[in-house]
Amino acid sequence: MSIDRINPPLPSHPDESLPLDGSQVGIPGSPRPVLFYQRQDSLPVVSHGRGIYLYDIHGKEYLDGCSGAVVANLGHGNERIARAAAAQLEKVAFTYRTQFENRPADELAELLVQLSPPELNRVFFVNSGSEGVESAIKLARQYWWSIGKQGKSVFLSRRPSYHGATLGSLAATGYSSLNIPFIPLTVAWPKISAPYCYHCPLNKQYPECNIDCAHELEWAIQSYGADNIAAFIAEPIGGASTGAAVPPDEYFPIVEKICRDYEILLIIDDVMTGCGRTGTFYGYEHWDITPDIVVTAKGLSAGYTPIGAIICRTELIDEVLRSGGFMHGHTFAGNPLSCAIALEAIRIVIDEQLVENSRVLGTYLHERLHELKDRHVVIGDVRGRGLFAAIEFVADRAARRVFPADWFVALEAAELAREHGLLVYPRRSLFGHSGDHVLIAPPLTIDKAGIDELITRLDRALAALSNLLIEYTETRAAKIEDSTVKRFEQDEDVADYARADLSEVEPVEDANVTRQMITGQPYISDDAEEGDGPEE
Ligand code: PLP
Repeated sequence: MSIDRINPPLPSHPDESLPLDGSQVGIPGSPRPVLFYQRQDSLPVVSHGRGIYLYDIHGKEYLDGCSGAVVANLGHGNERIARAAAAQLEKVAFTYRTQFENRPADELAELLVQLSPPELNRVFFVNSGSEGVESAIKLARQYWWSIGKQGKSVFLSRRPSYHGATLGSLAATGYSSLNIPFIPLTVAWPKISAPYCYHCPLNKQYPECNIDCAHELEWAIQSYGADNIAAFIAEPIGGASTGAAVPPDEYFPIVEKICRDYEILLIIDDVMTGCGRTGTFYGYEHWDITPDIVVTAKGLSAGYTPIGAIICRTELIDEVLRSGGFMHGHTFAGNPLSCAIALEAIRIVIDEQLVENSRVLGTYLHERLHELKDRHVVIGDVRGRGLFAAIEFVADRAARRVFPADWFVALEAAELAREHGLLVYPRRSLFGHSGDHVLIAPPLTIDKAGIDELITRLDRALAALSNLLIEYTETRAAKIEDSTVKRFEQDEDVADYARADLSEVEPVEDANVTRQMITGQPYISDDAEEGDGPEE
């Protein structure tokens, strides 16, 4: 292999206005760029950001109506953050947590504790939401272990829910389209119904439902045995799965009481809803509850650096430290540069009263979204709290009938919005298969004029979406491209699993555990010699 193949030369003066493909960088002759994420969409190339706006390299302006993935709480190009980052870079960017303490980490931890209830006073830094959830899971498990309750190892969570992409956080996630390929690799933790009133998983109606989704926790604990359960983990307001679904007010106080009665830890996943996003600093503050462990990330640095944290009760940490220390940690965690940036980000949230702004302008945003609902029949529901909102699309508002999965309505909506200079975050609430909605969560720095502009652009995008959906309805033809056909076929497989209808699903020949699951027979390789099978 030639050195050029291993390390292809970069163009000396890359023309930023040309789309990148493999002929410019990466593998010579490749038709695609070498960088990949979930899909192969062609996206605009970002140039810079200012306030609530982002600009691509052709100068097109986008109003960041979802703060990326509900991250950029301070908007873009914040000068205070730039100064704080530069000052810390000049001093020291990285030190390792077993070799040095650092002031920014201490001060940030102090600030997070000051903003928490008095019982929550210990902080552990990570680099992302998923790492935070993993850390919460391992801390809870190690706590029970260290006090001699080794049986407590099961983590209860909800369906639908989203807690992250790593295997532990995915095991807690209830979102079939993301879970199913990895079922053989993850622990099968039980899930209870999420408080998702618009499409209630229990098919009930508030308030006659008696908040049965909360009481399901007690039934789950009783059936698995409290001695086996370590913790219950929940998002305060549904995020990337149920699209800003706010639970009834009774929900969390009931959940907290059940956790206390059965000696189960309560972990609040505040990754998307924390740091002022919903009009309180932490998302769980909408109710009078005190969790045992809180996970935060995203807004913690407003996207200016990757960082997350867990905030927990001293009793947990004392026991774990007494028993030999927390057996967990990540290389970059708590580095001075990330902590200095996050510290400045949270100070700005406080100084500029952005939590209050989220509450006040959130009310205005919701009013304006309801006006859009009056104008566009494709909107079935407007929900959320503060500057965290979602609009869910329906084919029939009265029946709350969702659009066919292969119309990919949320993706179409996001694409049309982008064409109209607005970014929104497309998701699906019915386990990832349907229930199309988009999250609207602009930077907390937005003002009234910014919201008016957001609504104007969204209004135009929704008009275009309605026309497209009328066309789909008339022709009955979904817009099908190669990639969407593949995704839909995959969705169908997923749906068969979800319905437990495995007759149509081809066993995956080379995935031992999957075949074992499907056939119920222990896996013995075709190549195996006699006597090579599993031991009795
Ligand atoms: N928890 C919640 C509630 C989230 O919304 C997310 C991400 O969207 C995560 C955890 C995972 O965070 P990350 O993508 O930073 O790993």
